[in-house]
Amino acid sequence: MSESSADVVVIGGGLSGLIAAWRLGQAGVSCFVLEAGDRLGGRVKSVKLGDCIVDTGAVAMLGSYAVMAQMARELGLSKELTRGTIRFGVPRNGHLHVLDTGRPAALLNTGLLSWASKWRLRKLAKPMLRLWPRMNFESIARLTDADTETVGSFSGRELNAEIHEYLIGPLIRALWQRDPGDTPAVDLFCSLKIFAPTMFALDAGLQRVPDALASAVRAVMGARVLSVEDGPEGVRVCWNERGEIRSKTFRQAVLAVPPLDAAALLQPRSLALQAAFAAQPYSCSVNVHFALSKRIGGDVLVVFPPESEAPDLTTVVFEHNKGPGRAPLGKGALSLYWRDAWSRARMDADDESVIRDAIEQARRVVPELDASLIEVAHVERWPFSGVCRSVGGAAAVAEIERAAAGFYNLALAGDYFVLSGMNAAVVSGQKAARTILEMRARQAAADLP
Ligand SMILES: Cc1cc2nc3c(=O)[nH]c(=O)nc-3n(C[C@H](O)[C@H](O)[C@H](O)COP(=O)(O)OP(=O)(O)OC[C@H]3O[C@@H](n4cnc5c(N)ncnc54)[C@H](O)[C@@H]3O)c2cc1C
Repeated sequence: MSESSADVVVIGGGLSGLIAAWRLGQAGVSCFVLEAGDRLGGRVKSVKLGDCIVDTGAVAMLGSYAVMAQMARELGLSKELTRGTIRFGVPRNGHLHVLDTGRPAALLNTGLLSWASKWRLRKLAKPMLRLWPRMNFESIARLTDADTETVGSFSGRELNAEIHEYLIGPLIRALWQRDPGDTPAVDLFCSLKIFAPTMFALDAGLQRVPDALASAVRAVMGARVLSVEDGPEGVRVCWNERGEIRSKTFRQAVLAVPPLDAAALLQPRSLALQAAFAAQPYSCSVNVHFALSKRIGGDVLVVFPPESEAPDLTTVVFEHNKGPGRAPLGKGALSLYWRDAWSRARMDADDESVIRDAIEQARRVVPELDASLIEVAHVERWPFSGVCRSVGGAAAVAEIERAAAGFYNLALAGDYFVLSGMNAAVVSGQKAARTILEMRARQAAADLP
């Protein structure tokens, strides 16, 4: 099958686009992917750093990612997929309080929070129970009526300053690299629902998943799409393939790129849709990764520093604790993730100064991180890492869905319909494939004499 004979084009070779293309191929549709970059997988990326394997994009495949896990099994990755609990630490006044998601009772015994705060945590139950059936990996639009306040205002009213600083704040900083106060409270409730007690690990790195998908679909890399125009006769796509401008009307298309890219590509421009896409801004992430000559961090997988302990550092991941194959015996690897503002200020800075700043601040929460242990350092820059909406963002998602329901031959996919994440990308890619199949079935029925 050549691209000129393909019926359907998928724009964007991240997880959402790859799964859409794979599902369409399984249904017998001739289809291919156009990817602007020189690799497939988008924001899921693993690199070999010295002797270690480090995830430099998506960090963790949570145990709640049932759809992604099912897809990985279908791709033949069952044996590589292992499941374990998450040992995480939160530093407070120089002491690391370690919790294990496999032992929820540990939250009762931890010295991280006072007894008054532990008792106060029950206040989370009411909104969680009320919204539970409507929180899913498909769309946050169903929470529009509840999307009326920030975490800051919810915390101030229902919780207290200690819970905000040492539990809720670190979680939100880790998930979105942003200040917890401004985050919509519905995002907090959704993240508490998806923060499962277990996590899946892949010894060869999370990129094994898009790699397996990539080997099952046809893709053209170095092909930047310039415009997409939906119509009753098909979708007109114009793209730049390594300097050559090409265009073709496909029978259908899936647009699987982040929202600001989607807004720029869609023709003709709709003001309402543009505004709704603009209400899905992304945080930016400059991560720093180290291969180390010795293991540090004990058996803790991840540290979530509160703002008072390390203002810019949001997450420390001890990569060697993700799985036995991640680092040779005795050696270690460490990843550091930062607040959006810290990353933005360093997007164009040279690696050396980024690494220097990173070590200086990280030593506040990982004192064993000595420069002499570092064998290899790597800086990864992501202009878009995860969607970080303001209050009212759920209504904007509903607006995007309303507009998409009116498309003739185009389906949207991506991680912006709900909290950003790999499972959300997979769920939306599969949904886009189903939408295309339904469009084709309707057209086939209409063509019958
Ligand atoms: C640092 C970091 C940490 C993360 N941590 C986690 C985590 O722990 N757990 C989790 O579940 N998720 C995490 N994520 C988020 C997760 O990686 C994403 O939600 C998911 O990979 C999104 O997939 P996608 O296909 O929707 O988008 P993308 O992966 O962004 O794919 C979109 C693709 O479209 C291409 N593209 C864009 N414009 C065009 C164009 N005009 N023409 C052609 N191609 C185009 C891009 O090059 C890209 O390959 C993290 C992301 C980052 C960056």
